[in-house]
Amino acid sequence: MTTAWDALPLAGAIDRAAERRGEPGALADALADDATRVVLVHRGRLAGDPTTGLVRVPAADVRDAAPAPDEQPALRWVLLGVLDGSQVLALVLPDDADATPPGLEGISESGRWADLVRGRPWSSLRDLAATVPADDAALAAASVALAAWHASHPRCGRCGEPTVVTQSGWVRRCLAEGVDHFPRTDPAVIMTVVDDDDRLLLGHNTAWAPDRWSTLAGYVEPGESVEQAVRREVHEEVGLTVGEVVYRASQPWPFPASLMLGFRAAARDTVVRCDGVEVDDARWFTRPELLAAARSGQVRLPGRTSIARALVEEWFGDELPGA
Ligand SMILES: [Zn+2]
Repeated sequence: MTTAWDALPLAGAIDRAAERRGEPGALADALADDATRVVLVHRGRLAGDPTTGLVRVPAADVRDAAPAPDEQPALRWVLLGVLDGSQVLALVLPDDADATPPGLEGISESGRWADLVRGRPWSSLRDLAATVPADDAALAAASVALAAWHASHPRCGRCGEPTVVTQSGWVRRCLAEGVDHFPRTDPAVIMTVVDDDDRLLLGHNTAWAPDRWSTLAGYVEPGESVEQAVRREVHEEVGLTVGEVVYRASQPWPFPASLMLGFRAAARDTVVRCDGVEVDDARWFTRPELLAAARSGQVRLPGRTSIARALVEEWFGDELPGA
């Protein structure tokens, strides 16, 4: 089996058109263009449905309902990029966008965009990612990640002054200090651990249901290379020493801001000693053993949306049973 890393959910490529972000009026120009489409985010959810896909609203349908990009600090516009020749914006609606009682639309400020929320299906990124096309999933992932970042970074982390949004939604600037703040992405390593007999190690997290097993994973620490992070995490969680570490693929995991970096790690020994804090059990599987355990339901593998599943199936050499 050739693992289709490019088809990994959430890892699709879009033209981010980064060169346009700094152009004056880039957001307003995009909104004025009838060809532009808009991805809507509300309370961390996306307009869309796993069966019918991500909704890309025509700019004309949003233009009158939502305040202009420079008008309303409670709203966030982001220039996501260009898809199929059309610019794509994200509009992050305020949490209370649907709070206006029916009948007050057109009177109150929030009433202007209440109907952008009502009457639409809203889905989590997790639910959408498994089924929508790769480019839609990439748009959705960027939208949700930036919405979460804007929501949690209204002020400068250095001086506490409110920041303003620049670069078409991709930067927040502290005017008091003249400092730019960029969206944060937290690198995490995730790895299949394989021994000399080509067995795979799967771990059980203390917080999981008894039948759930997956690869080991953990965050990269400041001052650490990703290879060192793989070796440290494996040693901390299951007490194994790792030799060769080979990079496989990556996947954005904006829940809320991770980037999963996938590796295969060669174990130098096989005696597992779980830390009991994060991992309370870990087992070696041969391919027939894992296939049988997945078929019987004794082992529930990570979901098909995840790079963890892709890493396990790359080792296995084929798809494995289970959702
Ligand atoms: Zn500041």
